[in-house]
Parts: sequence; structure tokens; C-alpha cells
Amino acid sequence: THQVHIIGGGLAGSEAAWQLAQRGIKVRLSEMRGGGERTAAHQGDALAELVCSNSFRSDDDEKNAVGLLHHEMRRLDSIIMGAAEVGRVPAGSALAVDRDVFSAEVERRLGEHPNVEVVREKIDTLPTEGLTIVATGPLTAASLAESIGKATGAQSLAFFDAIAPIVHYDSIDMSICWMQSRWDKKSGPGSEGKDYINCPMNKEEYYAFHKGLMEGEKTEFKEWEKDTPYFDGCMPIEVMAERGVETLRFGPMKPVGLDDPRTATPEFPQGRWPYAVVQLRQDNKLGTLWNMVGFQTKLKYAAQVELFRTIPGLQNAEFARLGGLHRNTFINSPVLLDRQLRLKGAEHIRFAGQITGCEGYVESSAIGLITGMMAAAELQGRAWRSPPPSSAMGALLSHITGDAEAETYQPMNVNFGLFPPMHDVGKKQRKEAYTNRGKADFGEWLQSMESVPA
Ligand code: FAD
Repeated sequence: THQVHIIGGGLAGSEAAWQLAQRGIKVRLSEMRGGGERTAAHQGDALAELVCSNSFRSDDDEKNAVGLLHHEMRRLDSIIMGAAEVGRVPAGSALAVDRDVFSAEVERRLGEHPNVEVVREKIDTLPTEGLTIVATGPLTAASLAESIGKATGAQSLAFFDAIAPIVHYDSIDMSICWMQSRWDKKSGPGSEGKDYINCPMNKEEYYAFHKGLMEGEKTEFKEWEKDTPYFDGCMPIEVMAERGVETLRFGPMKPVGLDDPRTATPEFPQGRWPYAVVQLRQDNKLGTLWNMVGFQTKLKYAAQVELFRTIPGLQNAEFARLGGLHRNTFINSPVLLDRQLRLKGAEHIRFAGQITGCEGYVESSAIGLITGMMAAAELQGRAWRSPPPSSAMGALLSHITGDAEAETYQPMNVNFGLFPPMHDVGKKQRKEAYTNRGKADFGEWLQSMESVPA
């Protein structure tokens, strides 16, 4: 009999299973593929199948956030990193793999492990008891998604992401933009009515921008994504723009109630409303990331960068995330989960992987890893301390479990914008400073965890 039930044998579930098993805990790993079920993206039955690219992105742990995450996972004996090493193919500074060799290695290690039982079965409802980890990914089976929706409230479960681009604060030109909420509206006690960063556009700039939106190259929906209709609040901005050249000025680019201080005159000391406005809203507690509200888009990445840098104030914008829309099952983790990834009100259930709202192979695996460690500590009665927020794993975990803005919560890759800022370090040295600090703090944390008796 098992001590922990893991649902989903993808990247996160496989990693969680390994972490538990290596700590002497018996695991049942339920994977529906191979049991007569399929997802729309997986091709085969192997555990930890890579559904698209064969790359785990940058392996540079000196200047890159995802490379730092690789480093931390290796230090925690990650099965995903271990199998990636076995399947590694040449790819410069990136970590890319032969996908079949990679998956076969994960399958072999788990299959041979005395503490792991892999069962090819679909789970349709959340278990009412017993330590459980849900790692069913962006294409969670419909029956289970329904059960999750019942437990979390339908509002808290999304089937599509609608990703608006996110900009690093220190790349915004604040000599052009200004901070103001529409009509100076206060958002609560202590608010000064200056919650948004506003980028002003004149008529000419706006018309050029509209043209760019219409003409820019778009990504097509995949065949199996097409039958899911847009729902309120996540229509791509270019689809709204198609309705008429002025439509956006009554939607996400509405200028009313926003006074551009650069246009102040004695008659209008606060300034005038611009022709159109792009508004950015704070996206994390640290204030390092700002969300281009309403700008979810299927424009290709290069087209987005080119077009969004024509927005006054964003001419040098660095993007922590570009916009997108995909089928993607995920929960509103900042609201639903506690700091240990447990479902509030049903604490025997943890979530792991992309369903928590992280994005990407590496991030999903990392959250699987940490979830496995947490469940092991709980089961073995050991005190738990989360990795420091200055580490890649800690930064990602903090984001998911509370630091992200819950209202606009959308899938997120690991990036330095999630790290506590180091304003005193020059921009050129900053990436290195982040990784150095991250490694040192992570090392200390690891030591403190290892000194806790099992
Ligand atoms: P998965 O790896 O999908 O694992 C979930 C597992 O749960 C699956 O094996 C599934 O069969 C199983 N399952 C689902 N429901 C049930 C159930 N009810 N009972 C039992 N088993 C169940 N990320 C990148 O970094 N690079 C990419 O190129 C990339 N491309 C992507 C392309 C597509 C089409 C999609 C959908 C996602 C892509 N991602 C990519 C994002 C993401 O990182 C991967 O989807 C990643 O596999 C997520 O890991 P996971 O473990 O959370 O989910």
C-alpha cells in the first residue's frame, strides 16, 4: 500500500514521485496514458513526455534564471535533470535532449524503484483522504477538472490562459509615463489613487499602433484548441481591434480620467487626457513586474516586441513574459493554495506542475520536486522551510503561493523579475549578482534542511 498518491505521470508527477521514493516513502503514480486514454498533445505513453520542444532552455547558471533553476534542481537530485543528462544532445548553452532517451530514462528509474508503483489509470475525482499530489498538467482530463472545479469554485479554474505581456519596471521610461488610477480612484485605505502606469498616445501614434495590431503576424490556434470559444475578458486584443479602429479606445486603451502631466498648462494644471492610453498594473508584490492589462494576443513574439516598443514610454521595454493564448488548465494558486501548495480546506491535497500556474518544462518539474519534498517532510514529521525567495525555486514558489496578483493570475516562467530586487547593483552586473546571491542562499537553506533529522 502506498503512502502518497500522485495523479499524473508527466514531468511534475514523475519528479515528485522520485523525491518521495528516494526518501523512503511508498508512492502510487497514476498515469492515464497507457491505460486507454490520451491527451490532445501527448504522442505516446511514456512518463515525462515532452509534448513539444526538446529543450529545457538555457543551462547557464551564472546569468540566467532558468539556468539557476537547473543548478538548484541538480543539487536536489532531480530525476528530470538526471535523465536530461543521459539524453543530452548538443545545443550550445541550452540543455536539449533526445526526447525518447530522456523519457525512457525517467520510466526506467521510476519503474525500477522499489517504492514506486506506476499504475496506468485515469483518476476522475479528487480523493477525499490520503496524501495526494495532483500533477495532471495543462491538459488535465475533463472528469478530474470538473472535480477540481467543484472543490475550488469554477471561477478559480481556467481552461485557457490569456496572457498579457509583462514588463520589467526598470525598463519603463517614467519620464514619459506617469502613475495614476482612472479618475484618481483609490483602491483602498492608504491608496493614493496612483495604481497604474500610463503610457500616453496621440492620434497618430494610436492609428499606427492599430495598423500594427491588424497587420502583425499571428500564431494560429492548434486544431484541438479551436473548439474552445473566447470567454469574457480574454479576447485577443487584435480580435477586439478588428471591430473598428476606435474600439480599443473604449476598451483597454480608454484615456478618460487620465491626465498626462506633461501636457499641463495654466488652464489645465493637471494635464489633458491623451488620445489613447496603455495601462500597466503591478503584477507582483515586489513591484518589479508590470502587466499590460488587456493586451493578451496571438501576435508572434518578435511582432509583439516590435509593436509594443512603439508605445511611448515602452521604447526600451524588457519583457518578463510576452502575450499568448493557449489551452491550459490551471488553478488560481495564490488564492487557493497555502505556502506549502496545499489546497486550503482540503490540506491532504497538494498541487504540482503546470496546473499550479507555473509555465514550462523546467518550472513544472521544479514545482513537482518541491511538492514531493514538502509531502515527505509532512509525512516524516520534519519541520519544513521553503527555499529562500532569492533562489530560483523560492522565487517561483513565492510567486505561485501568494506574491502574484491573484486577479490577473496567469502562467509564469521563472525570471529575475520574481526575485527580490537588487537596486544597488548596476544593470550590467545584476544577472550575475542575482545568481550569486541565489546560489549562496540556496546552499545555506539546503544545509539547514539536511541538518533536520529524518
Ligand atoms: P504534463 O507533463 O502534461 O503531465 C501531466 C500528466 O497527467 C500527463 O501525462 C497526463 O496524461 C496525465 N493526466 C491528466 N489527467 C489525468 C487523470 N485524470 N488521471 C491520470 N492522469 C492524468 N513547455 C516548455 O518548456 N517548452 C515547450 O515547448 C512546451 N510546449 C508545450 C506545448 C503544448 C501543446 C502544451 C499544452 C504545453 C507546452 N509546454 C511547454 C508547457 C508545459 O511545460 C508542459 O506542458 C509540461 O509538460 C507541464 O508539466 P506537467 O507535469 O505539469 O504536465
